[in-house]
Amino acid sequence: MLEGFEELVLEIKKRDVKRLFIQVPEGLKTRIQELANSFEGQGIVVVISCEPMWGACDIRFHEAGDLGCDAILNIGHTDFGVKSPIPIFYWPFRLDFDPIPVLESSWKKIERFKSFSLVSTTQHIECLDVIKVFLEKKGKVVLLGKPAISKTHGQILGCDQAAALDEKADCILFVGSGRFHPLGIIRKTEKPVFVLSTDTNSIEDFSKERERFYRIKFAQIEKAKDGKNFGIVVSSKPGQMYIKQAEVLKNKLEGMGKKAWILVMDFITKEKLMGLKLDVLVNCACPRLDEDAHLFGMPVLNPEDVGKLSEVVVL
Ligand code: SF4
Repeated sequence: MLEGFEELVLEIKKRDVKRLFIQVPEGLKTRIQELANSFEGQGIVVVISCEPMWGACDIRFHEAGDLGCDAILNIGHTDFGVKSPIPIFYWPFRLDFDPIPVLESSWKKIERFKSFSLVSTTQHIECLDVIKVFLEKKGKVVLLGKPAISKTHGQILGCDQAAALDEKADCILFVGSGRFHPLGIIRKTEKPVFVLSTDTNSIEDFSKERERFYRIKFAQIEKAKDGKNFGIVVSSKPGQMYIKQAEVLKNKLEGMGKKAWILVMDFITKEKLMGLKLDVLVNCACPRLDEDAHLFGMPVLNPEDVGKLSEVVVL
């Protein structure tokens, strides 16, 4: 059984939960039936949400309430304060990973820096203490910054890189997998960014992605300048519902002579936009959409890009 299950069941039973609504990330779906069986063995009825879920922003309390569930279990994430009328249990689900062999084999790549901002996602947050000790023994300064949304020092989200942005750091070392989180960091700082990859067991210099990212973004902004019809997308996920920001952007775009509509959907896909006449999307939901921007057949801008539509670029 998954680590921490017994403690979790005790907590859930203390709250007298009879029917539990479970949300699980895609990567753990293969384990969910086994987990549901274990809960049911404890006399708790389980409803498994099959909707995609990537963060603690996505708490489906309307659905859970309509189904008569008296608690929600969010697996793979930590609480960042989404309000819910139904109790939520977070089960962060840590992954075992030993970073020391990777640090030793790739040391030359980061040896020249004196101070490090050390960050990770919740799955590998426990590695940070081990890495901190390793770096300090080498005489380096290690900074575990305070997040804006999450609660653990050194933790970042795709939409919260504050922990990585300590001014005193010479570089940022991210521990984890995938491109989404380090891409978020390079958008917020000009400093070198390294990834201690739990996928490839190596340290990679991610800074070179910055130029590629800005080249694509620049091309999208330039194309968007010619657009007339703008769709401003907000998500109905409770932690991504930035309607006020969407209204500000709508006014701004209309002030530039554009037409703009606020659109809402849960999971954002191109198919849901069929039938609408749009030239440009502005994403007020999860920044993860940047990774899929090429699927939409039109420029996809982030809120901070909208102000750049009126800038004249001299090449
Ligand atoms: S908005 Fe996106 S990046 Fe932020 S917590 Fe939700 S899924 Fe993660």
